[in-house]
Amino acid sequence: MEWVENEVKEVGPGVWMRVAIDNISWCDLGDSAAVIDALEDPAQADVVRALIKETTGRDLKWIVTTHWDADHIACNPQWRREGAVVVAHQSCADSAGDWEGRPDIAYADRAVLRGATERIEMRWLGGTHTPWDSVLFFPRARVLHIADLFGWGLIPCRPTPEKTARLKEVLNAVLEHDADAVICGHGPVCTLDHIRRFLSYFDEMLDAVPPLVASGKSLEEIEAQIPPPADMSDWWRFTDWKHKKNIELIAENFVRQ
Ligand SMILES: [Zn+2]
Repeated sequence: MEWVENEVKEVGPGVWMRVAIDNISWCDLGDSAAVIDALEDPAQADVVRALIKETTGRDLKWIVTTHWDADHIACNPQWRREGAVVVAHQSCADSAGDWEGRPDIAYADRAVLRGATERIEMRWLGGTHTPWDSVLFFPRARVLHIADLFGWGLIPCRPTPEKTARLKEVLNAVLEHDADAVICGHGPVCTLDHIRRFLSYFDEMLDAVPPLVASGKSLEEIEAQIPPPADMSDWWRFTDWKHKKNIELIAENFVRQ
């Protein structure tokens, strides 16, 4: 998986992203700019605002939040003080309390932010990675932002039976979009094909791991018996640790209950 840390690239017409361990992306709405999420380091607020102006020619007006984890909201307070408006699902507002980075506009289920040329369609699909997760779609650019619901092969939550069912439901809802590119919260851009492959891999793992755990095999023995699939070997950090972590997660959460 080829990628350059901190490279700024246009993912689709009018949608940019700075690719890193912690990604940040933004969109030209035609009359203003919206940033998606707000990183973990508040000192990045000036840097990102300048990148937005440089690439879109517009001032930052909207902060659209995918979920309320600390590594996605750190620049909210400064950008809010400078006049930007935070838009997030109601569950984020409930968690934010009186914090100065809190949402100004909260929605239930779905919302649309309309600009002159592009819009952002927000849909709450929470209950797996976090209670807060929303998926964002930019229809003109044909770009989707699914934050941490895709972790380049890492199962993004504890795979209890309930969360396993919800995760499949959520990722299948993601697949309904007509998107050429998918931005995730961390690491390189992916496509809907990667999400489809993750779903089939997830099923393969849910079939393969529990019987081996039940037969008394150790995690090391299971890892030896179920190597990372060859076609996923270039997925970001997948063979280093994510595949192994998935075996642990399934062993801990799916079998012993
Ligand atoms: Zn994250």
